[in-house]
Amino acid sequence: MKEFKAESKRLMELMINSIYTNKEIFLREIISNASDAIDKLHYKSLTDKKVKIKKEDFCINIAIDKNNRTLTISDNGIGMTKDELESNLGTIAKSGSFDFKNNNKKKENIDIIGQFGVGFYSAFMVASKVVVNSKSFNTDEAYSWSSEGIDGYNISKCDKKDYGTDIILTIKDDDEEYNKYLEEYEIRSLIKKYSDYITYPIKMAVTKSRPKKDNDKEYEEYQEIEILNSLVPLWKRNKKEIKQEDYDTFYSDKFFDYEKPLAHIHVAAEGVVEYNSLLYIPSHAAYDYYSKDYEKGLQLYSNGVLIMEKCPDLIPDYFSFVKGVVDSPDLSLNISREMLQQNRVLKTIANNIEKKVKNELLDMQKNKTEDYLKFWHDFGMQIKVGIYSDYGMNKEKLEDLLMFYSSKEEKLVTLKDYCERNKDYDCIYYACGTSEDQIALLPQVEAVTSKEKEVLYCTNYVDEFVFKTMQKFDNKEFKNVCSDDIDLDTEEEKESLKKLNEESKDMLELIKKEINVADVKFTNKLKNHPVCLTSSGNISVEMEKVMNAMPTNESVNAQKILEINESHPIAKKIADLYKNNPEELKNVSKVLYAQARLIEGLPIDNPTEITNLICDMMAK
Ligand code: ADP
Repeated sequence: MKEFKAESKRLMELMINSIYTNKEIFLREIISNASDAIDKLHYKSLTDKKVKIKKEDFCINIAIDKNNRTLTISDNGIGMTKDELESNLGTIAKSGSFDFKNNNKKKENIDIIGQFGVGFYSAFMVASKVVVNSKSFNTDEAYSWSSEGIDGYNISKCDKKDYGTDIILTIKDDDEEYNKYLEEYEIRSLIKKYSDYITYPIKMAVTKSRPKKDNDKEYEEYQEIEILNSLVPLWKRNKKEIKQEDYDTFYSDKFFDYEKPLAHIHVAAEGVVEYNSLLYIPSHAAYDYYSKDYEKGLQLYSNGVLIMEKCPDLIPDYFSFVKGVVDSPDLSLNISREMLQQNRVLKTIANNIEKKVKNELLDMQKNKTEDYLKFWHDFGMQIKVGIYSDYGMNKEKLEDLLMFYSSKEEKLVTLKDYCERNKDYDCIYYACGTSEDQIALLPQVEAVTSKEKEVLYCTNYVDEFVFKTMQKFDNKEFKNVCSDDIDLDTEEEKESLKKLNEESKDMLELIKKEINVADVKFTNKLKNHPVCLTSSGNISVEMEKVMNAMPTNESVNAQKILEINESHPIAKKIADLYKNNPEELKNVSKVLYAQARLIEGLPIDNPTEITNLICDMMAK
């Protein structure tokens, strides 16, 4: 008996004693090795006439023997010589994900097994004995490698007619946990799950039953060879041969969504990095989409073999709704999670995918507006968050996808549309509130819309953060119509207002002191409303509301300005009071301010005082 190399021994030990629950991946690993071995012989057959086997005869066979508790996986691939058996199976492949120095902790070991498996040795998670009979295409002698664990392995000559390799696993017989690997249905479902798209047929003799010939009341069992895998996955097929229906069925089967997707993107990339990808944009958000439980990611395959169920590195957070698969022969099966994150191939694929998704969305926005509105309804929030996350790093990429309700068009519009319609504006007007109707009735909004200006209505609490992050679009700044620097007046109007404010300086100062705001002034922009509240500085009244509603201890205050309609009867009234009854002016100021706060949806500090004041005034 020969000893394993030290590293192999440790890996073996880990496998034998594995408490890892996903032991089933051993089959994926063995099948994938078999497929590689066939690839090699297939490749040789293209140039070497000595290879007699026909392409269609390449296959992988699985056989279950319950009596002897064996599961055998055979391939007719390139096989291994004695030396190769020794070096390939006697030492752990260096290409694998195992870096022993950094892997002392049990937990991490389990993660590694889970994410990527560790090749051939994973067989020891389920088998008490592993025998490998192999005949290499390069020699005419067959050899048998066998091992029952850490003690070591034996190699001896054996009889084998054809080229290729048989892996014979004696399944551990401890308990139920392992018995299932001797059941046809279990093997069938494991192949479907992990190896469905291996390009060679995976065959198994399955037991079926049929009525007996001479007596159709009784049944007899018989064996039939079945192909367990689908061979060529949808994403590797020619687009022209695929019907819309095929795409939809694949989506609902794979991603358990019974509503049709809005769009699919099918990519076959050849170039620096070769990959196939099939992506979908769902028509609605999953129930947990906006919760912490939602896990983004695409299924990652390496040549038809599933490496990872949800690879998060393939898709940015702002496109986390995308579902799909990526398959690349340029990725190794045994790549670790950490290595994957820095992998150049994966990064290239991720960049391409991001561009494809964005283009698909822009195309939908332009040509299938109804679909896009559906998308926007469910996923618009994710795009908005994407704009202000990461310090606005991705805002340029995403800004064209945004949509807001327009006062003029009375529907959702893009910023580009807005700017094209309003080339003469030097800014983009917006207003915030709880609903489109409520915003339309805001005094400050009426003031602007009555001058035929188009205003974007922001009904979502993140909207203003989006604009603050973007700062500009198409070189136009975003301007909240509820801020004090909105200027739509003629020179004359400005002059007369300035004069009025100067003349009333002392009175306005008195009001300001009474209600404690940043400023009080007359305005000419309100049509029928007596007062409104605007803000100066970076924080708008709307932002104050949002930020103060957040579960932190910080509170912010917008610099509020009370504006009084110069042409409203109240303007004359307060001027009179200032002259004749300054005490009463203080009360009226309080009520006016409370009124402005109410319109803005802000709370009133002292509701009892205010309601009493109103009642007193009514009683007079
Ligand atoms: P990896 O597949 O990552 O190289 P494994 O431990 O799974 O690591 O396999 C080690 C090596 O053993 C493979 O690289 C291959 O050369 C050889 N091997 C495994 N299974 C077979 C097989 N069925 N036919 C031929 N060679 C095989």
